[in-house]
Formats: sequence, structure tokens, C-alpha cells
Amino acid sequence: MINMTSDKKITIAYIEELIAKLAQEKNLTDEEFVTLIATPYPEETNKILAIAADKVRRQHYGDKVYVRGLIEFTNYCKNNCYYCGIRAGNCKAQRYRLTKEEILACCKEGYKLGFRTFVLQGGEDPYYTDERVCDLVATIREAFPDCAITLSIGEKSREAYAAYKQAGADRYLLRHETADELHYGKLHPESMSLANRKRCLKDLKELGYQVGAGFMVGSPYQTIKNLVCDIRFLQELQPDMIGIGPFIHHKDTPFNAEADGSLSLSLRMLSILRLCFPYALLPSTTALGTIAPNGRELGLKAGGNVVMPNLSPTSVRKHYQLYDNKICTGEESAQCKSCLELRVKAAGYTIVSDRGDVRK
Ligand code: SAM
Repeated sequence: MINMTSDKKITIAYIEELIAKLAQEKNLTDEEFVTLIATPYPEETNKILAIAADKVRRQHYGDKVYVRGLIEFTNYCKNNCYYCGIRAGNCKAQRYRLTKEEILACCKEGYKLGFRTFVLQGGEDPYYTDERVCDLVATIREAFPDCAITLSIGEKSREAYAAYKQAGADRYLLRHETADELHYGKLHPESMSLANRKRCLKDLKELGYQVGAGFMVGSPYQTIKNLVCDIRFLQELQPDMIGIGPFIHHKDTPFNAEADGSLSLSLRMLSILRLCFPYALLPSTTALGTIAPNGRELGLKAGGNVVMPNLSPTSVRKHYQLYDNKICTGEESAQCKSCLELRVKAAGYTIVSDRGDVRK
């Protein structure tokens, strides 16, 4: 039955069979992945997938949900990714960068609130030279020795990644965005390449970071085959974290008229990834919460086990506008944390306050 040819009618029983196989073997053939992702029964498929994904996440992580304090410390960026609201070419973006002291104040506030992981994310800002990044990381490392430091500052040289590690960084988030060369070229200018993105991820792994890759769901020109290609790339890389969320258009980018990614496909991909990578840390992202009011709760139920409340000062939050209508731009850090705590509880899980390292 599993080897049915693609011209046969796909039944819900067959979809169930595929999900059982995926849960058992953590893998499917390309054709089976395509069938599952493009299911003619999205609602039922998502329900069955979420039950299977939840079972697996509970086996590995119980009902725990890990929190990461997100500090969006600069929205200057030298790159021009077509989808991103803080791209260099967006002259309407109001630029800001936090000082070292301001970043430390965010960490201090976060520590008081129980955060034991700080994620420093930003555009590729030339002001933040490798030297400055190292100085920042070393200062946080010294002030908060029991916390994990995650960087998400884009493509750098192997030497730079090594220096950040030496200074005290533990983890690095760098979504690969799409593992298909042609698709990559449709999302980025010629100056950027998938080869370099992959080189970065390989270097980060070899240097001993806990590494996060990932992609947007429903980005312009994305096909189901591209999504299968993403799964194959992740299987090769075996990242510790996988960040996915729907693409959402931004009015001042070349993709301003493109359709947003769907909640349904995003949740389906989240569950599929949980079944392929039972050990992984999978965030239920802000983008998911932006396309649906209960998106993050649904993301947790679909297999997610990480949330990333914002620790950036309220005065700059609205300027880290990667896409239109981004949520959580008006709240204080404490409000953001307690709002997420309630959402996690309502979804049937428990927020924990430890570093939340990967359990491989
Ligand atoms: N500069 C770093 C990098 O390149 O990894 C980190 C910051 S970058 C803005 C963080 C992530 O935001 C990207 O990896 C991308 O997947 C996501 N992102 C950017 N624009 C988006 C959009 N319009 N919709 C959804 N996600 C978006």
C-alpha cells in the first residue's frame, strides 16, 4: 500500500499510513513527503500529524517548553534579501542599534524574569565588527555564567565564528532559508549564495556550536519539492534547532504584493519536522502568532517546544519590522513573558526556566 503510484487516488487511510511510517522510521521517500505535504485533506492530516508529533515531543521533552529571551539589538543590515523588512534597500526603515550597556540591561531584566538563554539577533550590521561582537559576548558570559548565549547575526567567516565561540557563545541560529539553489536565487540578490549559507552552517557545526537552521513556509516561488529539499538538507545537517515560520509580506520590500504563507501548511511542516527530528528544539514563532491569534498555541500542539519572548526595549521593537503587523511590539518584557506563560499553559504545556540544551 505504501508504494502506491502517484496516479492512484489518495485516501485519508493512506495519509494515516504515511504518518505512522514517518513516526516509526523518521523518514519517507520524496514522493511520500510530497503526498503528505500536499495532502488533499489538510485539516484531518494536520490533526493526525499533531497527535503523532505531540506524542514524540512528550517522549523526548515531556511537557516542557523552553524560553529564549530575544534581544533584537540592531536593525542595520548590509544585505538585500527580497523578503525582509530590514533589508538595506528599505530606506523607509527607521534604523537603530542598541549599545552594549543597553543590551546588558536587557539581559539583566531577562535574568530577573527567569531567562537562562539570551538570543542576540540582528541584521548584518558593519558597526558590530567581530571585535565588538566578541567583547559583547565575553561581557555577557562573565556577567551571566549560567546562561546560554545564542547569536543570530548572519553569515560570517569561519574565523569570526571561532572567535565568538572562544568569547563564550554557545549556539547560533542561521536559517538556510531554502535548500534549493534556484529558489534561493529568487529570494536573494546575486551577491548572496546558498553555497555560502551552507558553508556557514557547516563551519558552525564543526566549531561545536549548537546550531539552528530553518526556512520560511510559503515564501514566494516555493514549491512542495522545495520543502522536501529542505527536509533532505536538514537530515544531512542534523541541526539542534530548526526555526520555521510562515513568510509574511512587508509593504516596503520587492515582495510587497506576494501572498503570505498559510497557518495550515506551517503547522503541517512543524509536525513533520518533529517526527523527522524527535530531539530537536523547534520554536513556535512570532510569525505564527502574527498570522493567527492562537498561532503559537497551535504551533506548540503541532510539535513546537520553544518560545522566544522579546526582551528588546519597547522603544525600538516596532522598528525590527521583518514583516507587516508583527505582534508583541508594544509590551514590556515582563508582560511578554507572562502572556506567553499563559498561552503555553493554555496549550497544555509548562514553561521551564533552565538553559534548555538539546537532548540528542
Ligand atoms: N541577519 C540574520 C540572518 O540572516 O540570519 C538574522 C536576522 S534575519 C531578519 C532572521 C530571520 O527572519 C530570517 O532568517 C528570515 O527567515 C526571517 N524573515 C525575514 N523576513 C521575513 C518575512 N518577511 N516573513 C517571515 N520571516 C522573515
